[in-house]
Amino acid sequence: MRIDGQRFGGACSCGKTHEMTTKLSVIEAGALLHFNDYLNELELDGDHLCVIYDKNTYEAVPADRRPKAMQEIILDPQGLHANEFSTAEVFEQMVGGITMIAGVGGGTINDIARFCGYKLGLPLISIPTAASCDAFGSDVAAMTWEGLKKSISCLSPVLVVADLDIIKAAPADLILSGIGDMLGKFIALAEWKIAHAVTGEAFCQEIHDIMDEAVTNIMTNCKKAQDGDDDAVAQVMYGLLMSGIAMQMFGNSRPASGAEHHISHFIEIETEAFGERSDASHGEKVGVGTILASAEYHRLAQIEDITPYVIPYQKWDNEWVRNYVGDRLYEPTLKEHENDALAKVTPEALIANWPKIRHIVAQIPTAEALYETMAQLGAKRSLSDIGISEDKLPELLNNSPLARNRLTLMRMRRMMNLEV
Ligand SMILES: [Zn+2]
Ligand SMILES: [Zn+2]
Repeated sequence: MRIDGQRFGGACSCGKTHEMTTKLSVIEAGALLHFNDYLNELELDGDHLCVIYDKNTYEAVPADRRPKAMQEIILDPQGLHANEFSTAEVFEQMVGGITMIAGVGGGTINDIARFCGYKLGLPLISIPTAASCDAFGSDVAAMTWEGLKKSISCLSPVLVVADLDIIKAAPADLILSGIGDMLGKFIALAEWKIAHAVTGEAFCQEIHDIMDEAVTNIMTNCKKAQDGDDDAVAQVMYGLLMSGIAMQMFGNSRPASGAEHHISHFIEIETEAFGERSDASHGEKVGVGTILASAEYHRLAQIEDITPYVIPYQKWDNEWVRNYVGDRLYEPTLKEHENDALAKVTPEALIANWPKIRHIVAQIPTAEALYETMAQLGAKRSLSDIGISEDKLPELLNNSPLARNRLTLMRMRRMMNLEV
């Protein structure tokens, strides 16, 4: 299966011209055996290629399928994150004369490669080794910077080569992670439409529809993919790559990330007062965040008239923030929320758009339906499944927006006096 990137770039009905860097994505068994053919097809010079692996992904790719490279950098997978340390290690190791970077692995390795390629002004090739997340085709690197989760706009890969033989052989929990990441789009797309309604934030129907189709694709194929059906695995990978293309078209992660991602990020940044941590993967935490956000949003949407509960916007209290996040995260958190996305919301706009918000929420699958889907897959689906106490739920709902400054319905709860 091939995705021709040119189809998605150019002038759009939303009035914008969408930039597409990814010229070609290939999803096929044995695709890496033809790596050089794709380079030739795109007229890319592979002679000065630096390929970044971690020890596990290096071993996952048979020697005859590893791209011929001027340099291979093999990182230690132990405690590896896309952050200031791993990227510094790549910069330190990299020899002179490199003209192109490839990342071989899951989200972390590809984000490291994406960030490094962007900083050095070098084109990127993405080689996913598992259907574990939707970041491969995107221009956004999910980095942890000074302890805070940041979506940093970088450059998308010019080429994505997904070798299904390798992806199928990946540990089974990785595909569950990819599915969890994609279920989150039900929330993310709803947040986007809500923000568009309440504040007029930029919205593109075409990108929305691409993402919507990608989620549907994953929902239809996830069970069969988990059972190892070749076509279904290809379809899941296709959905993940299309999600990346949607992000790339928009230029940031708005179509792909809302309150469910903020719940995941919030757990990851380990604020001082929260006091619990999780070893679950990104997609597992997003999957659980999706169920929690869905339950809360459907609960809110039962309120027919929000008027009696709406209170004016108030800034977060700095002292409270300092005590809650701790000294390590205080400054970066303040900086992140300097221009609080919620400040654009007026009580009047929230009240006037409430019927529309309720209508948008009604289209999100219920928490019960999502839970059932996850249960059938044997995926993690509750806070305790990801190692967090169930009684942390109210704290997560209230404070997870601290992880990212983006307008979500979860963030709008700060303007609702919800002692209901
Ligand atoms: Zn558009
Ligand atoms: Zn994600």
